[in-house]
Amino acid sequence: MQIKTINVYQIDLPLKEGRYSWADGKYVEVFDCTVVEIETDDGVSGYGEVCPLGPFYLPAYGPGVRTGVAELAPHLIGADPTEIGKINLIMDTALLGHPYVKSGIDMACWDLLGKKTGLPVCDLLGGRHGDTVALYRAISQEAPDKMAKKIAGYRDEGYTKFQLKVGGDPDDDIARIWATREILDRGEVLIADANTGWLMHEAARVVDGVAKLDVYIEQPCKSYEECLTIRRRTARPFILDENIDGLQALLRAHGDGAMDVINLKISKVGGITKARQIRDLCVSLGIAMNIEDSWGGDIITAAIAHLAHSTPERFRFAATDFNSYVTVQTATGSPKRENGQMKADDTPGLGIVPDLGSLGSPIATYS
Ligand code: MG
Repeated sequence: MQIKTINVYQIDLPLKEGRYSWADGKYVEVFDCTVVEIETDDGVSGYGEVCPLGPFYLPAYGPGVRTGVAELAPHLIGADPTEIGKINLIMDTALLGHPYVKSGIDMACWDLLGKKTGLPVCDLLGGRHGDTVALYRAISQEAPDKMAKKIAGYRDEGYTKFQLKVGGDPDDDIARIWATREILDRGEVLIADANTGWLMHEAARVVDGVAKLDVYIEQPCKSYEECLTIRRRTARPFILDENIDGLQALLRAHGDGAMDVINLKISKVGGITKARQIRDLCVSLGIAMNIEDSWGGDIITAAIAHLAHSTPERFRFAATDFNSYVTVQTATGSPKRENGQMKADDTPGLGIVPDLGSLGSPIATYS
């Protein structure tokens, strides 16, 4: 099997709630999503998707995906897409860094490997654990009472895990955490994700202000060193996200005892191949994971489902069904949330069929 053509599609994904807001006044209303199609000489296609959370969440932005694929494509034409280790080596040799650019290509190669072998990606990643994967719902930053109301609504839809977007004014954030924990029951999970938004003195005030509550603190400050300082000042369970951008960061943070849980985002680390490596290491080290991506549509949601479903249940803190946050579909066959859970499809590959009606024609073709 050889890569014959790489097609690139661009699609806007508007948010159902209208706006998604987090720390420092940042927000996104329409997501700039890229779908990558790898066509082979056998006439089979594989699909991947990359969808940054705006241009200011991670060092990644929508048009950057397309520019990066243009850079990589000439190196990939003629290569065997099912030799995914080699594909990753080609990409890392041709382009230093830019992991998010490589994620859609790597994802499409996993889809092709599944189609070639007749196996779902979940099986190729180690096999299915449990019947379903529990999801968390991210709650956009608003006034405390509004966030509590949103949680009540999403809880009625079956979610039991909630991630509050904080990282704003410390007093407001303390009020947000109290107002939302108050309405939750034992066994329901609350995460306060500051998305790097607090300075250390602000984070110190918030962790003290919620010291008696059952809440996880996520990525309070910008740098790893600042987060580690806050970690050592609080007894609350601690999650690192933005700072864990690869294997080296994970190993350092584990050595420092810097977190209890990480957020494993597929495009942040460069695709399913590298996410699996980190996933397997976390299982060996005893670190639980939120398995997700920076954002996404149906294809990313399918990839998350396969990676999460092939992760031992104890280590699966939660996953995300991004396709339920947006109004436009990029593919059919993607997992649909049921009672706060989803599952990986059991057909070969990612189990999705691209929705060409909404994707339109490719905006770039490389062969
Ligand atoms: Mg986060």
